[in-house]
Amino acid sequence: MKRNSLIAGVIGIAILAAAPLYTANPYYIHMIGTIMIYAILLFGLDIVVGYTGQVSLGHAGLFGVGSYTAGVFFIKLGAPLWVIIPASIGVTAGFGALLALPALRVTGPYLAMVTLAFGTIIQILINEMDFLTEGPLGIKIPKPSIAGVQLDEHGFYWTVLALMVISLVVVDRILKSQLGRAFEALRGSPVASDCMGVSVYRYKVYAFVISAGFAGLAGCLYSYSEQYISPNTYNFELTVLFLLAVIMGGRKSRVGSLLGAAIIVILPKLLDDLELFRMVASTLAVLMAVGGAIAVSRKMTTVKEMALPVVGTIALAGFAFWLQSITDWRLSIFGLMILFVVYYLQDGIVGFVRNLFVRKGSRAGHAMVLAGGAHKDAIMNASSAGVGEDLLIAKGVLMQFGGLKAINQVDISVKRGTIHGLIGPNGSGKSTMMNVLTGIYVPTAGAIEFAGRSVVGRTSSDIALSGIARTFQNVQLFGEMTALQNVQVGLHHTFNSNILDVSLHSPRYMREEEASVERGLGLIEFVGLADLANEEARNLPYGKQRLLEIARALALDPQLLLLDEPAAGLTAPDIKELITIIRKIRDHGITVILIEHHMDVVMGVCDNVSVLDFGQKIAEGKPADVQADEKVIEAYLGGTAA
Ligand code: ADP
Ligand code: MG
Repeated sequence: MKRNSLIAGVIGIAILAAAPLYTANPYYIHMIGTIMIYAILLFGLDIVVGYTGQVSLGHAGLFGVGSYTAGVFFIKLGAPLWVIIPASIGVTAGFGALLALPALRVTGPYLAMVTLAFGTIIQILINEMDFLTEGPLGIKIPKPSIAGVQLDEHGFYWTVLALMVISLVVVDRILKSQLGRAFEALRGSPVASDCMGVSVYRYKVYAFVISAGFAGLAGCLYSYSEQYISPNTYNFELTVLFLLAVIMGGRKSRVGSLLGAAIIVILPKLLDDLELFRMVASTLAVLMAVGGAIAVSRKMTTVKEMALPVVGTIALAGFAFWLQSITDWRLSIFGLMILFVVYYLQDGIVGFVRNLFVRKGSRAGHAMVLAGGAHKDAIMNASSAGVGEDLLIAKGVLMQFGGLKAINQVDISVKRGTIHGLIGPNGSGKSTMMNVLTGIYVPTAGAIEFAGRSVVGRTSSDIALSGIARTFQNVQLFGEMTALQNVQVGLHHTFNSNILDVSLHSPRYMREEEASVERGLGLIEFVGLADLANEEARNLPYGKQRLLEIARALALDPQLLLLDEPAAGLTAPDIKELITIIRKIRDHGITVILIEHHMDVVMGVCDNVSVLDFGQKIAEGKPADVQADEKVIEAYLGGTAA
């Protein structure tokens, strides 16, 4: 698979590189060049949109910053290309950090609006700051020279091709590294990212900054390509086009970005030429009808599902021949096509094709074979030093939501190396306690000390890195990532390599990545999911998802592990397996706090138990004593277990 795409890539590059040799028409060379420049921007935009899942309508603005950095450096300083390229990337990356600020506060439609405003402000600034940018007059830039050689159209084309290929490789490497996993994790579940020590705050900023760097490079090349830049290029329409290109091409895919770039460059030109439009529309209709017929006969889809797209494309072809002049209809046709793609191909063109070929179940063949159980013992590094002393001390913890005291003056202390049960009826404040311990909520009052250090007021990712890992009552996996990748997010703290290591595949990065795969597989095997390592987390059965969360939490190398109802949704044999796993975890010296409704689990594994009711601690002690306690029976056991 990997080899095939490499071969396809090399052939593709060779064809692109040879393009100037078989067409002398500068119009087409310029067009392909523009597609490649847009593709560079879209690689970057896909990081933000496809991976971190943030909407950005500010990228035309960033593109403009890149173009104008090149323009200003050229007219004011007469700087050469090798200065202008890094300058454009650097300045635009700085603006990317600015654009990230709102993304830290708002998401969804609000973020779309704020980023749109950002783009508009950039355009206005370019227009108004004419002492720097020449305002509406624009800036003229000739083609650059490299090492004293003035580039002609073809030379520039090859330069763009080379930079596009480099960008593709770098983006691809970033996205497949721990950085890419961090980006994807914060789309999958921000809360879980933070609790795995991957700061959502920091990685959102990184994503925008890196994305902006590529927008800057693209903008810089664009100004050389056009040889003239003016403010009104970087408008609302362009920014919407960029976003659509990512969606139409297919998010989380470099091929998708290239396709998307080709579509947004070629489609408007196509709609300028009636003859060409008729030809393409009728070809599309024939392809759709034939493809639909084949798909239906092979039972890959139903007649009902195919009917509308087929009829739609045939109608479009008919419409094309009925039209006398296309100019009036351009925008409507464009809009309709976009609606079609967004409605029918939600995963974009690349996603659509992928779904056709990769049918359900065919992924199982990819599962890696483990090299025996050799790494079993090296799974957890925590030591059993200091068993018996207090690892966690919570005093007078109060958590108030409006008038509700979800936790009311609770004291809990947990001894190192023990399993501490936390039980109580629904709504008694157990999960809230975990959220307070992991920094998701800051307690209204009270003190919490973990391993001699206060927890209160620190961020979730900071607390996680200091040794508290957790699972969630409502499973919080990174759904689109594989089981192994989920655990690798937990191993994020084992990486020291930076973006340069990742881009160059330095020995340090390769070593760390390899180690994380091995450790990850070891942990997955530990919870009994070895044959599901390469399955997407969202496709796992519910019970297995819970086990995967435990593996991911262990990847943090925690001193304290918080399990929030791990047995919920598990089958009886799975629960037995879970009990064994929890005991093994304790035997590795990791302290556990266990919230559980299954009394057999609690009584079977816990050393101590605290009981909450209406936010207050009503009993504490050995499991057997607690089970016999009058108050507990009344509040809890009497109601459910008896
Ligand atoms: P448990 O896990 O013991 O079932 P929880 O800790 O989830 O209970 O909830 C305890 C109480 O706190 C419930 O009444 C719940 O509605 C309330 N609560 C929890 N989180 C919030 C919140 N973010 N805002 C308001 N009320 C909350
Ligand atoms: Mg709960």
